[in-house]
Amino acid sequence: MRQLRLDTSWGELRLAGGSRAGEASVLLLPQLRLALDAGRPARALVPLHHVVISHGHMDHVLGLPAWASQRQLNGIPGGKVYAPASLAAQISELLATCARLEGGKPYDVEVQAVAPGDVLPLRRGFFLRFLATSHWVETLGCCLEWVRLRLRPEFVGMGVEELRAERKAGKIITEDVRTSLLAYLADTGPEVFAEHPFLSEVEVLVVECTFLRPTDRERARRFGHMHLDDLVELAPKLANRHLVLTHLSRRHRLGPGARTIKNALDGILRPQLHLLNVEWD
Ligand SMILES: [Zn+2]
Ligand SMILES: [Zn+2]
Repeated sequence: MRQLRLDTSWGELRLAGGSRAGEASVLLLPQLRLALDAGRPARALVPLHHVVISHGHMDHVLGLPAWASQRQLNGIPGGKVYAPASLAAQISELLATCARLEGGKPYDVEVQAVAPGDVLPLRRGFFLRFLATSHWVETLGCCLEWVRLRLRPEFVGMGVEELRAERKAGKIITEDVRTSLLAYLADTGPEVFAEHPFLSEVEVLVVECTFLRPTDRERARRFGHMHLDDLVELAPKLANRHLVLTHLSRRHRLGPGARTIKNALDGILRPQLHLLNVEWD
């Protein structure tokens, strides 16, 4: 898997992951104990408590039973899976079937059904906001939001005693500051950007770019995937700090694919470009 260390307003955000269309996509945020899709088993996935499953395609799901099994084997309690409401029951069944296959106890995993618009607390100061993407089956992307308290502007510069007095007088002296740190769009076509303009402002945008050749534009449209030409059109609007691309089709070899992507976006992209595509064994 590839490792990225990205500077954000929260601090250095560490990502580990790898991706290839049809084979596997895995994106891990170990600092938040969070995995975004689990397309294949990975040691680094096992300790992570939260796993978001974007949709039911095997290149995003296959590592999930191994995650649950390995956690049980290592005596790690709990574990939470977030999945689109239409799939949650089937994912529970899948995990129950795998536990029965192993002849042991059911895995200690909770499957939470989520819908577009849901905002769920992840840990202190962090939330996951879910949104529908535009793939050919129901797919949920998510945005990691960081919320911190700051003094309201009218109280900035006051001393501790003064602030205490204001608070005693019933004044609310702090306010929430909400920052969209990272958005993960799983499998999607470009329509999601028109639907959710905030995506061009999140600090780290993780988006797929499956197809590169001009002749594959129609195929990309039909199956709800991003084409390099979509990104070229989108590029001038992207105000993100980092753009992380995933899900390259196996029609393209890794090295030439990376060169094609970099050449097409060279000079028109403000965010720093990172590629998470890998050659899985
Ligand atoms: Zn996929
Ligand atoms: Zn898919």
